[in-house]
Amino acid sequence: MTSTNATEASPSGRQFLPSLSHDGDPSPNQFLLPLTAAVNEADHLQIGGCDAVELVSRFGSPLYILDELTLRAACRQYRDAFQRFYPGASQVLYASKAWNCLAVCAIVASEGLGIDICSGGELYTALQAGVRADRIYFHGNNKSFNELQLAVEAGCTIVVDNWLELETLAGLDSEQPVRIMLRFTPGIDCHTHDYIRTGRLDSKFGFDPDQLTEVFSFISQRSTLNCVGLHAHIGSQIFELQPHQDLAAVMVQWLQKAAGYGLSVTELDVGGGLGIRYNESDDPPRIDAWVKVVAEAIATACQTQGVPLPRLLCEPGRSLIGSACITAYTVGTRKEIPGIRTYVAVDGGMSDNPRPITYQSICQAVVANRLSATDQETVTIAGKHCESGDILIKDIALPKIYSGDILAVMATGAYNYSMASNYNRLPRPAAILVHEGEANLILQRETYADLIRQDRLPERLGALFNGDSSRQS
Ligand code: PLP
Repeated sequence: MTSTNATEASPSGRQFLPSLSHDGDPSPNQFLLPLTAAVNEADHLQIGGCDAVELVSRFGSPLYILDELTLRAACRQYRDAFQRFYPGASQVLYASKAWNCLAVCAIVASEGLGIDICSGGELYTALQAGVRADRIYFHGNNKSFNELQLAVEAGCTIVVDNWLELETLAGLDSEQPVRIMLRFTPGIDCHTHDYIRTGRLDSKFGFDPDQLTEVFSFISQRSTLNCVGLHAHIGSQIFELQPHQDLAAVMVQWLQKAAGYGLSVTELDVGGGLGIRYNESDDPPRIDAWVKVVAEAIATACQTQGVPLPRLLCEPGRSLIGSACITAYTVGTRKEIPGIRTYVAVDGGMSDNPRPITYQSICQAVVANRLSATDQETVTIAGKHCESGDILIKDIALPKIYSGDILAVMATGAYNYSMASNYNRLPRPAAILVHEGEANLILQRETYADLIRQDRLPERLGALFNGDSSRQS
């Protein structure tokens, strides 16, 4: 089936198709739809050469549709930009909290990226996917003893967050000194949602700068610890470049102070945080523009302060995978309240996309089975959960939609599947990887049997369940 990704003047779903005409490689985080999005002869949305409507008939809905090319393009743009703009060594890590599963870990690792993990579960998945342990960095403000032990035994770098963790690691019976970095709060603010703002001093993450010299001194007296560098992360979904530039100067200062304590600190991890486009008014910087600013700021700060260039790490999540995925839903009921609002309900909601209810985030959608339709009405897209706040999109202009239509919500690759729940005992959706017309299942849809797999029914309740009410008083 032939397809086109050309945009047109009249407002229809086609307006969101990527226009790839500008110079240079497109930066995926600037597009609402994956780079391969197109419309086919049936007027259906096509991703990775696959018809989204056919995918739903084949795999059911809700359905995460992940475009391999877009994910790889984002990985390459980060990696290549560091090589172009940073004069020293560099390593891009994928913040796998954005979406951690075997296939995603395997794809980013095959592009040469390392992985940032935040739990034993994310570690286990990354290792099972074949990620090299020396490219795994373990974050978290309350890692358990078992998680630390697992990560150290595997050979990961631990990004130490607090005193308890530092003392635990110093006392571990490990053959080699434990490879660590130190996370601190740099005191840098940025404009984003409070829940995803982490660089301020008032944050649950990392050492306070006031504690750092004491921490350096502690480590310098412990042969069991090998502190290789410093880490800071200022927040997520950030469009400004200035905070990242400011962070560079602060980090290099601390690197110099750490070296003064005899620590062989040769790595700086500047975190992630670059934002993506979720609706038309969003205008995030390109990935390579972000890298250029960060790389140049670090290089300049090092030159000014006379510090040798560190190996530079960053750990984006959202800007690597957010724009590579859509979620396809089947439309169900309509509730029209004259003069007030029309609700259109889909077969998922806050359990597969918790971002709107958690961060009041705004997303965009298209009718995937009628991409060129230009008639418009304003509706509110509701989820199917027993929760009034389960609204995916408030007041969106869409062609008139009815039961059976397929709605594609855009930019759902980051913090959707990874934050998905079974609220109301909804099975979690399937995820499909699409590439050049091929569709592969990467996450199987949960079944009702999966939902009760961990349930246990004590024998005495089983008797009641089987209709034996004689035990009731
Ligand atoms: N690194 C750390 C420590 C984080 O907490 C996060 C997310 O909050 C990230 C990296 C990834 O951020 P983003 O997905 O905005 O790039």
